[in-house]
Amino acid sequence: MSVEVPENRFLEVRELTANYGNVQALRPTSFHLDKGEFVAVLGPNGAGKSTLMRATMGLVENSGSVAFLGQETKRNNPANLASKGIILVPEGRGIFSPMTVLENLELGAYLLGSRSTVTGERMSKVLGLFPRLKERLTQIAGSLSGGEQQMLAVGRALMAGPKLLLLDEPSLGLAPRIIGEILEALGQLNREGLTIMLVEQKAPLALRLASRVYILSLGRVVAEIDPREIKSHDDLAHYYFT
Ligand code: ATP
Repeated sequence: MSVEVPENRFLEVRELTANYGNVQALRPTSFHLDKGEFVAVLGPNGAGKSTLMRATMGLVENSGSVAFLGQETKRNNPANLASKGIILVPEGRGIFSPMTVLENLELGAYLLGSRSTVTGERMSKVLGLFPRLKERLTQIAGSLSGGEQQMLAVGRALMAGPKLLLLDEPSLGLAPRIIGEILEALGQLNREGLTIMLVEQKAPLALRLASRVYILSLGRVVAEIDPREIKSHDDLAHYYFT
């Protein structure tokens, strides 16, 4: 079904809810992403940030509507969303630990049946973005450091040629220096035109990159803000607990 949206609207999510059994983790909530944006989703622990991403991808029981490029998606079919170009890098990364770095990357392209020339170009791009992966192509993914595993998770997502990248807390459990490297790469990808939505617990990191921020509290979007308006933690706390 087609959905009436502005021309540069990438993702239009309306009245999205999500349930885990009897627990409603997301109350009817709406948000959107425009082409080329870098949008961050912030909020306290348990606010529903991961659930928002999972529901958008159809990975949890949900209702409401999700339209990508003006077309309603089949939300209960994550593979369908991936084939349209929406790729999620989940919290915990979801890499295949017993496989090598190279195999993980190849799988990112293979799952969507990309042609080999395209796969080669994407591989060069990923290895240019994350030289640490280039040095470790034959290493078993499970033996990488946490930061390298996160790079691999992002790299594998890029191998699928995403139009929209959803990232769930890529900084989780990582040292500041490696977080910096990953964020630098995300900033570069966005400057090159990739639309990104980032869920982050560490607000200052997200505020540095995002051009627009949604605040989630108690399972729904409670505010949409310009990151330049946030000068201190108190400014955010004001939104978190309203
Ligand atoms: P955090 O920042 O701590 O990762 P979050 O904002 O991402 O939190 P979610 O993980 O989306 O929050 O969780 C939202 C609510 O849904 C919480 O109350 C959580 O306990 C609940 N929840 C999440 N996953 C499940 C699940 N698999 N089964 C039952 N309840 C769940």
